[in-house]
Amino acid sequence: MIVNLNDVLKKARTHKYAVGAFNVNSFVYADAFIRAAEEKNSPIILQFSPGVLKAYQDSCLVNAVTHIANMSPVPIVIHLDHGKSINDVKLALQYEYFTSYMIDGSSLSIDGNIEIVNNVRELLEKNYREELKVLDSDNIDKESLFSLEAELGHVGSEDDDKSIETSLENIEIFLESTEIDALAISIGNVHGQIRRETGLNFDLLKRINSKFFDVPFVLHGSSGVKSQDLKRAIKYGITKINVNTHFKKIVEDLAEESFEKYGKSCFSNYKIMQPLVFNKLKEYAMTMIDLFGSNNRVVPTKPLSEFYEDLEEPYSDSTYKNNTDEENFDDSDECITAEKFIEKY
Ligand SMILES: [Zn+2]
Repeated sequence: MIVNLNDVLKKARTHKYAVGAFNVNSFVYADAFIRAAEEKNSPIILQFSPGVLKAYQDSCLVNAVTHIANMSPVPIVIHLDHGKSINDVKLALQYEYFTSYMIDGSSLSIDGNIEIVNNVRELLEKNYREELKVLDSDNIDKESLFSLEAELGHVGSEDDDKSIETSLENIEIFLESTEIDALAISIGNVHGQIRRETGLNFDLLKRINSKFFDVPFVLHGSSGVKSQDLKRAIKYGITKINVNTHFKKIVEDLAEESFEKYGKSCFSNYKIMQPLVFNKLKEYAMTMIDLFGSNNRVVPTKPLSEFYEDLEEPYSDSTYKNNTDEENFDDSDECITAEKFIEKY
C-alpha cells in the first residue's frame, strides 16, 4: 500500500533502523525494489528524480509503478527526489499516488531555503485540500496527507567539491521556521561517490542526534560509505538512506558483461538482460534492507502467498472494480491497467 514518510520514518526513528530510499530509473528497478521489500517484510521508499519524471512524461512508467505499489502488501512511499523548484514539485503532483516530496534548497542561503520550503508546503497543502475538498486547513491531519523532506547544509557530488556541513545552529533556525518531516544533512557524505570511500563526521552527527533526537535525518550519497559506518549512522539518527549510484552501477556492469558475452542480441532477448538485471537489483536491495535493519518491521496486509494468488484474478477483485468507476477513470488509469503490467503480478 502507498503511505508517506511519516508512516514509516517515525517508527524507524524510535526503533533505530533506517528505510531504504531507492531511485527508480526504469520499470525493472521498481519491480526489483518492490519484490525485495515484500520478501523482506520491509517498508520501502521509491523515489523519482525530476529528470526521470521529465524523461518518462509520455510513458506509463510512473502510473504503472505507483499502481503496483498501491496493491503491494507492504508500505511503500512514492517520493520526489531532489525537487529543485516549484515546477519540479508540480511534475510529481500530476500523478495520483505521489505522497512525498523533497524540496532541495541547499544551494540557496538559509533564508532562501526556508522560503522555498514554506512555498512548497503551501502549494502542497492547497493542492491536497482541493483534492479532498476541505476548505479549512485546521480540520485536516496534515501528516497523513503528504510528507516533505528538505536539505540543510549542502551535499556535493563526486565531481564538485561544494559540500557544506550542516550546523546545529542552522538546524535550530530551520526547524523553527519550517514544517518538515525529514531533513537531509551533510556530514561528509557525497553524491555519486563510488571510486573512493566516504568518511562521515560522527562527532557532528552525534551532536545533531542528541539535540534533535526525534527528527528523522536523511543520508544522501550513501554509495561511498562503508557498511559499518552506515550501521553506526543509523544508531545516531539517520532514518532514511538514499541509494542510487550502486544500483545504476549494477545495471551498467551487467550491460557491459552481457554485451561482451552474448553480443548485441542480449538486449532484445528476454531470457538474458532483463532477468539478470532484475535479480541483481533485487538481491542488492535485499542486502541493503538487511543492513538498514528494516527487514521484518511490517506485517504485510496479507501473507505474500495469498497476495499473489489473489492477484491472479485482478479483474474479479472488488477493490479493483471500485477503482474503475467511470468518474474516476481517466486516460492515465487506462494506461496503467494495460493487461501486460497486471499479468505479471
Ligand atoms: Zn541526494
